[in-house]
Amino acid sequence: MARIAIDMDHVIADAHNGLLDWLERSYSVKPSMTPGQRFRDVLNADQYAALSARLETAEFFFNLKPLESSIETLELLQRNHEVFITTAAMFVPNSFGAKYEWIKKYLPFFEPKRIVFCGDKSIISADYLIDDHIHNFENFEGRGLLFSALHNELDSWPDRLSDWNDIGNFNF
Ligand SMILES: [Mg+2]
Repeated sequence: MARIAIDMDHVIADAHNGLLDWLERSYSVKPSMTPGQRFRDVLNADQYAALSARLETAEFFFNLKPLESSIETLELLQRNHEVFITTAAMFVPNSFGAKYEWIKKYLPFFEPKRIVFCGDKSIISADYLIDDHIHNFENFEGRGLLFSALHNELDSWPDRLSDWNDIGNFNF
């Protein structure tokens, strides 16, 4: 049995498409983004400021959709391993309640004691950390598994998981 820490935004909750949907609804813009690009690269200053403000709202987090196959794979994974959801919620204090409600809604089987709202993820002690940001692997003593997202496609990292099928097939 392995201890596996899993990030929430861009790994379980589809923040990228949540932002794209919101941009389309609010500004009728649908930026086409290439690998490695971030929203600040494709929006004007006003749009990016509005998007940053949107990211500070509880509503944004609550309305995200789960990534494909994330729920069922997590359900299987936590039967055989010690799985924690580790989210740097401290950077967006408004997100706490919404993230907790989101987990209760989509992951009702998930034990609340396995939810970790943190800031600096180097405090996490686990065998694996699945995350979409390489910087979260700095000072992490376990094995960092980079979960693919458009913004990290050009980052080089030895262990990359493309999607939840890859997580399901990984030999933890
Ligand atoms: Mg993330």
